[in-house]
Amino acid sequence: MHSFQRTSRIGNFLSKLQYYGVVFLMIPGIFIFQITVVYPNLVEMLQVGVIKQLVHLCLITFCFVNVVGNMIFSMIMDSNLKKPVYGEGTYCEYCRMARPAKSWHCMRCNACILKRDHHCAFLSRCIGLNNQRYFILFLGHILLSMIYATYYNYYFVTMKFENDGWLLSAFRILNPMIRFVIPEPMGVKDLYVFYLFLNMGLIVWSGSLFFYHTRNIVMGVSSYESKFPELMDSSKWKDNMLRVFGTRWYLAIVWPMCESPLPDDDKDP
Ligand SMILES: [Zn+2]
Ligand SMILES: [Zn+2]
Repeated sequence: MHSFQRTSRIGNFLSKLQYYGVVFLMIPGIFIFQITVVYPNLVEMLQVGVIKQLVHLCLITFCFVNVVGNMIFSMIMDSNLKKPVYGEGTYCEYCRMARPAKSWHCMRCNACILKRDHHCAFLSRCIGLNNQRYFILFLGHILLSMIYATYYNYYFVTMKFENDGWLLSAFRILNPMIRFVIPEPMGVKDLYVFYLFLNMGLIVWSGSLFFYHTRNIVMGVSSYESKFPELMDSSKWKDNMLRVFGTRWYLAIVWPMCESPLPDDDKDP
């Protein structure tokens, strides 16, 4: 086996591991924590009324459906080229078939990807024609959900810690060595602070990716093309957005299950 193949196999394994970690541990973990720990505690401590509780339940359901729905669709809607397409495109030496313009071969997916944007290590697949909408909305809804969760967790953490105790806890998590200096042992409160930090980290992570990819979509370029500023064209931003979010974009952004057809010239051949 070539060493290149071996490293790419290890790379694939690690990216799958990271992806299953996010899908099956981190996202459900955050959701369960918010529902079972933060939510009942806040309701009790702040004496939250029924109306506010209902509004909150609707909002978290909206977040959950959109994050998980868009994630699942960006995984199952592949953009792999299945049959040769002749026209303005090029010929793929690996797949041995003609492909349309803007389609490129991905070595990791071992297929040609229609309107290939990039290979997403987190989802362990390529983002292209059929799943770009879901991918961007997955990032956007994680961002919204994490801003919302951070707002609640901040209240939760500051209430749980009298005085400035939570700052001490934050230091303890950031630097494990400090544990030995602080007499008080690690406890469940440190876990709450850890969640707050995780939320804030996810805001930075999803926020930067969301703005980077949204800017590329508005400018009508793929991730690779964005390296060349002369290819960017913001004048057709409306058409560029429709090419990703489809003609029923106003439903797509709030409901992952809705169909939002792409403009005719962009459809899957
Ligand atoms: Zn190919
Ligand atoms: Zn790929």
